[in-house]
Amino acid sequence: MKTPRATERSLVAMVALAGTGAGLGLLVGQPGWGAAAGLLLFALLQLRQLLRLQRWLGSRDLHAPEGFGAWQPVFDALERRRKMDRQRRKRLLVALESFRDAARALPDGLIAIDEGNEIHWFNKSAKRLLGLRYPADVGQRLDHLVRAPAFVRWIASGTFDEPLIDQPAPEDERVRLLYRLIAYRPGLRMLIVRDVSNLMRLEQVRRDFVANVSHELRTPLTVIAGYLEAIEPEELHDFAPLFVEMREQSRRMSHIVEDLLTLSRLEAQSAPRDEPVAICPMLDRIQRDADALSQGQHTIELCCDASFDIVGSGKDLHSAFSNLVINAVRYTPAGGRIRLHYEPHGEGAAFSVIDTGQGIPAQHLPRLTERFYRVSNSRSRDSGGTGLGLAIVKHVLNAHGARLEIESTIGKGSTFRCVFPTSRLAPGAAP
Ligand code: ADP
Repeated sequence: MKTPRATERSLVAMVALAGTGAGLGLLVGQPGWGAAAGLLLFALLQLRQLLRLQRWLGSRDLHAPEGFGAWQPVFDALERRRKMDRQRRKRLLVALESFRDAARALPDGLIAIDEGNEIHWFNKSAKRLLGLRYPADVGQRLDHLVRAPAFVRWIASGTFDEPLIDQPAPEDERVRLLYRLIAYRPGLRMLIVRDVSNLMRLEQVRRDFVANVSHELRTPLTVIAGYLEAIEPEELHDFAPLFVEMREQSRRMSHIVEDLLTLSRLEAQSAPRDEPVAICPMLDRIQRDADALSQGQHTIELCCDASFDIVGSGKDLHSAFSNLVINAVRYTPAGGRIRLHYEPHGEGAAFSVIDTGQGIPAQHLPRLTERFYRVSNSRSRDSGGTGLGLAIVKHVLNAHGARLEIESTIGKGSTFRCVFPTSRLAPGAAP
């Protein structure tokens, strides 16, 4: 055991010094003073050790000085602790360095910001994509440096479930960026910036392709449908049923092409027209069209609050609302009831189509607005559906800052609700 032996050595040294002092004091007849002098010498030696320790603690030297007696284990323990600390610091530095290298190598821009959008740090890609400067921009507000209105609105909104896509890079409009924000510590957020130019180009190619194909198909289809409409089935005797089927299919194809062209037009426009649209007269017309389609098989009721209009595109809103109403007629068996309500809802307003149809199984609801998504292929085709109606509705509502809510119970019916924010409302002409 090292510590007790060292302590013993100290005690032995103290006793030896006191004894030697007493012996020398005896020579002059003062053994007590001699012993006291020996003890004083011992105390001075301890003080010297303390000073050496103090000096060493203040230095960066890894090796502790040689200790005397009971000081030696103290020096050893402190030296071991210092060595361990040094190693731990080294390991932390290596980890930090490799994390920094990884962040630097990322092709995506990373920017740590606080709740006031003040920049704490950013990586090399953020510099390249957003034109940030290091260290000048650390501590600056990000929304003062990236000033695109859509970005400023998005970051001020405080809701970051959805990324912000297809934004121009501040330094080069041709570079398209995607922003995503993640809260990673209380009060701190990580903004991820990704260059999605290639993806956007591909998306544009896809959009152009669909628009061009639809456009090219429209003329030949119109000609074929025109001839088919001109022929009377009775003239074809045995071929009459075949001919009627051909005519049905050519009508369906024309509807699909028209819907695809509508979708392409909606995708191409950046914002809908901003005109106040009187909703009640529009719903009157839609109700009449629905009555004609239903041919008296359904009860269709309209309840409309004319005190506020919607600011947007009348044509697009008509297209969205009539798609919902036509669906209600097509998917509600004869004898059913369909209610059309336009009324205040929360802070804004809502147009709801409530039917007593067969309802939609819950697992289909999240995918209903995808193009060509159908709950039942045969049911949709039999009723003349193109599979694009709800995709059009979703596009129109998105462009108007509105959302589509769908509730459905099997056997009881469905409710499709278009919810518009206050910012889209204007006072209506009627009281
Ligand atoms: P479609 O032209 O096939 O009707 P939509 O995009 O308009 O295409 O609708 C997608 C699917 O949603 C439909 O195929 C149908 O199964 C279902 N659907 C839409 N509206 C209703 C409704 N009111 N009641 C029941 N099912 C509906």
